[in-house]
Amino acid sequence: MLSEPAIAAFKSRLRGELIGPTDAGYDTARKIHNAMIDRRPRLIARCADVADVIAVVNFARENRALVSVRGGGHNAAGLGVCDDGVVIDLSAIRYVRVDPKKRTVLVGGGALWGDVDHAAHAFGLAVPAGIISTTGVGGLTLGGGIGHLTRQCGLSIDNLLAVDMVLADGRFVTANVRDYSDLFWAVRGGGGNFGVVTSFLFKAHPIHTNYAGPMLWPMKDAAQILRWYRDFIPKAPNALNGFFAFVTVPPGPPFPEHLHNKKMCGVVWCYTGPLKQAERVFKPIRGFKTPALDFVGPIPHPALQSMFDPIYPPGLQWYWKADFVRELSDEAIALHVKHGAMLPTMQSTMHLYPIDGKASAVKASATPWAYRNAVWAEVIVGVDPDPASKEKITAWARDYWTALHPHSEGGAYVNFMMDEGEDRIRATYGKNYHRLARIKKRYDPTNFFRVNQNIKPAR
Ligand SMILES: Cc1cc2nc3c(=O)[nH]c(=O)nc-3n(C[C@H](O)[C@H](O)[C@H](O)COP(=O)(O)OP(=O)(O)OC[C@H]3O[C@@H](n4cnc5c(N)ncnc54)[C@H](O)[C@@H]3O)c2cc1C
Repeated sequence: MLSEPAIAAFKSRLRGELIGPTDAGYDTARKIHNAMIDRRPRLIARCADVADVIAVVNFARENRALVSVRGGGHNAAGLGVCDDGVVIDLSAIRYVRVDPKKRTVLVGGGALWGDVDHAAHAFGLAVPAGIISTTGVGGLTLGGGIGHLTRQCGLSIDNLLAVDMVLADGRFVTANVRDYSDLFWAVRGGGGNFGVVTSFLFKAHPIHTNYAGPMLWPMKDAAQILRWYRDFIPKAPNALNGFFAFVTVPPGPPFPEHLHNKKMCGVVWCYTGPLKQAERVFKPIRGFKTPALDFVGPIPHPALQSMFDPIYPPGLQWYWKADFVRELSDEAIALHVKHGAMLPTMQSTMHLYPIDGKASAVKASATPWAYRNAVWAEVIVGVDPDPASKEKITAWARDYWTALHPHSEGGAYVNFMMDEGEDRIRATYGKNYHRLARIKKRYDPTNFFRVNQNIKPAR
């Protein structure tokens, strides 16, 4: 239990803010991206630096308090916040330092991907991230990291060179392939189970302007497009990424009026090869079936990375379901088309993200990410601003997922999962689970860091 004198003494040791339920900023500080989740922590420690993180970890451990770690606050299951415990809020640790000579980027544990995209772009560099710039570097990277550059550069974890961490016992360590290599293995997909990462060191790539954007086709063509896409993507050059989506066209600019509110299928492309070859690369795509909307063209990398931010502002209701997919049979495609046509709200969607190319060149045992042989990470999200839509978006996502799950590989990307229980986590890590559990036992034997997709310490 946290006593008032203990809290007061702790507050005086902290350089950052310590926010409690009676403080004016409490309700704002406990808010996360997914408004379906409403948790009331006992304390929110907005750490200013590593010293603060060490102090919070020690304080919480000594007082037997539950802790959660908050990076960007985007987690599907809301795992950045906890009820009645202490939130280690990293949102003030947001620095980015680019080393253009070494092509590396050092990132504070609470930075958002938009921070990284902006800083690296000035040097003509990019780090593989997700597709929304307001997502946290911390949670996304520790779970794997899928985005526009996956086929060209691998997952975010495949580009991670080192992490600084505060462990459950308050120790500060740097983990990389040489030092604490077991820990470094575990954090590349094992989530926030092993400690608080206060900085990430990434390899960056010379990517500045892509040929990218969405192409949409009418829903009536969805089966045909999806069959073509299924055959096209695995054979495409790694420099060409394209995730498939069912969407509802937003009712406003820049979308043409005749498409407003129409349910459509599409592919969001990103070609990172030489711009002068782009038209040639896209000739067979445009030639297959002329899209009803074609927003694909040259675009600076940070603009692509933030293109969909306005569609997904904070404060929406989100319900997530996911799976890894290796083959898209005609039967699975028919089910996709059936459920995709029933998108319940404007922001609800289904995405199939390619995770082949460079990501599949990594051995399944090289990181905790066990599904290196899967071709897509499927995610079905029911999304809407209105809390009254909760049942509707949840039921749609569940029904869709239930129909498609038998056509999947068994596990799912941890960052696309809600709270789905231990079996699902085991299925996701497959053969790598036991190794993760042994490393968890070594560095966090009491399961101090357990507000996450939890890996229990081995017995
Ligand atoms: C709109 C939206 C778009 C998304 N798009 C993509 C995408 O394109 N690609 C993709 O791969 N994922 C995507 N995601 C999923 C995203 O990867 C997860 O939601 C991820 O958990 C977000 O990280 P965060 O730091 O923002 O989350 P938070 O909620 O802050 O943290 C989530 C969990 O991560 C851990 N954590 C976070 N930071 C640290 C740290 N520094 N040290 C230790 N543990 C930490 C903690 O265990 C915490 O419980 C998207 C999510 C949303 C909401």
